[in-house]
Amino acid sequence: MTDTIKYLLDESRIPKVWYNIMADLPKPPAPVLHPGTMQPVGPDDLAPLFPMSLILQEVSTEREIEIPGPVRDIYRQWRPSPLFRARRLEKALQTPAKIYYKYEGVSPAGSHKPNTAVPQAFYNKEAGITKITTETGAGQWGSALAFAGAVFGIEIKVYMVRVSYNQKPYRRALMETYGAKCVASPSSETNSGRAILAKNKDHPGSLGIAISEAVEVAATHDDTKYALGSVLNHVLMHQTIVGQEAMAQLEMAGDYPDIIVGCTGGGSNFAGIAFPFIGAQLRGGRKVRVVAIEPAACPSLTRGKFAYDFGDTAHLTPLVKMHTLGSTFTPPGFHAGGLRYHGMGPLVSHALDLGLIEAKAYNQVECFSAGVQFARAEGIVPAPEANHAVKGAIDEALRCKTEGKSKVILFNLCGHGHFDMQAYIDYFAGKLTDEHYDESELAMALAGLPSVPA
Ligand SMILES: *Cc1c(COP(=O)(O)O)cnc(C)c1O
Repeated sequence: MTDTIKYLLDESRIPKVWYNIMADLPKPPAPVLHPGTMQPVGPDDLAPLFPMSLILQEVSTEREIEIPGPVRDIYRQWRPSPLFRARRLEKALQTPAKIYYKYEGVSPAGSHKPNTAVPQAFYNKEAGITKITTETGAGQWGSALAFAGAVFGIEIKVYMVRVSYNQKPYRRALMETYGAKCVASPSSETNSGRAILAKNKDHPGSLGIAISEAVEVAATHDDTKYALGSVLNHVLMHQTIVGQEAMAQLEMAGDYPDIIVGCTGGGSNFAGIAFPFIGAQLRGGRKVRVVAIEPAACPSLTRGKFAYDFGDTAHLTPLVKMHTLGSTFTPPGFHAGGLRYHGMGPLVSHALDLGLIEAKAYNQVECFSAGVQFARAEGIVPAPEANHAVKGAIDEALRCKTEGKSKVILFNLCGHGHFDMQAYIDYFAGKLTDEHYDESELAMALAGLPSVPA
């Protein structure tokens, strides 16, 4: 048997539909509320920000939504993505478990994010939109949307959190290579940005402020819409292409997962790999244990409240029911920038509430240690976010060893770490430490959650 086992699907087997878990849930998630009226929002409330086709996907209860031909044509460049059996990692761990990983780092931007950036750009193009604004932290989402904008001829403007803008010039260069405009946020271009700069001209920025700037520009320009790279139902749904492919690839391998592991920032790569399997279970198929891994420094699923909250710090968004640390909570600056969000996708939060998934939190040093072990066995250097999934999968494999059980573990290797090598340099230099959030700040942020009539 060869050491590297790669399960590849024929291009013709790129899924033709996205899977919508709303159709199979035993109980629907709580509605999104307008913060002024406390009434459920309607499609028209969201129309200034998103094209109607995406708004309809956001509220759809259809099980399957067709992937448009032009989107499948672009997906074909890197999809179906490979599924690997991690044989050398299994050997290194001396585990009886079988470990499989779906590798999303093969996309042009190096992560799962183009899976939703491409359809979002497509639907905007179809609606006659010429400009899209967005925010980005570490730059993974910004570069994915910049790529999609280049493909469909849409101008992309990215508000990038100022500290990252200064610290991560390579992601910014990637966005600019694709033709996007990248501005450090807070910027002097918007009312939200100017208000912050008036108080502190050296403000380091935050995702919350960057969202406010991007939303403000989209809301005040007819030719401009806004795009979000995680959290929302339609974003999670676009990512289900990952789990559907994995299901077909595992069938080639003659296996079915007992355990599925993914890291969670807003929940999109995790939902992408897990929801098709959870759906099969809900329709009477095999039961699968699904484990979400989050950073201990930003633990929305394990320490947050399941409550209505704003999606941004400036409170421009509607209220969504989700696991949240409070919209005023500022997570400490650890390296997995993609996981530094105060909330969690409402559908992932709802799945936890229904007992369909479990959640665990890990510290960053143990995650980097797992990532290095993975790289030395499998050759792929994971993104700092993906290291959380690697750590979760390794722990499950070691548990199989202790219990003497041969289980099948599947995890989402959602991106490579080639733009994050400074984090690895810091790890090897012993400079990486576990960041801890401020308990009193968390308590204050949770106490400040908006009160919503029952
Ligand atoms: C953005 C990002 C994440 C976090 O977002 P999710 O929506 O939770 O998937 C995780 N990993 C990588 C590589 C990312 O780029």
